[in-house]
Amino acid sequence: MTIGPKKKISKTKWNTRHATWQRLNLVRMSDSYPVAKCKNCGATKLAHHVCSVCGYYKGKQVITIKSKSKGKVIDA
Ligand SMILES: [Zn+2]
Repeated sequence: MTIGPKKKISKTKWNTRHATWQRLNLVRMSDSYPVAKCKNCGATKLAHHVCSVCGYYKGKQVITIKSKSKGKVIDA
């Protein structure tokens, strides 16, 4: 079995895919992208995502965040 691309993709195919990728990222960077406030610390975070500041999701600590400034490690 060969590994890797079997055929070089055409300009049209690449452009179509790249255009879709660009459109998606424009949406992600825009203000309309769903953002929510963390209920624990109040920081702005992505909706349905774990808070990257405190590591809380749905009122529970899901991940441990190691802060670089103080070197504190919070254990869940
Ligand atoms: Zn938070």
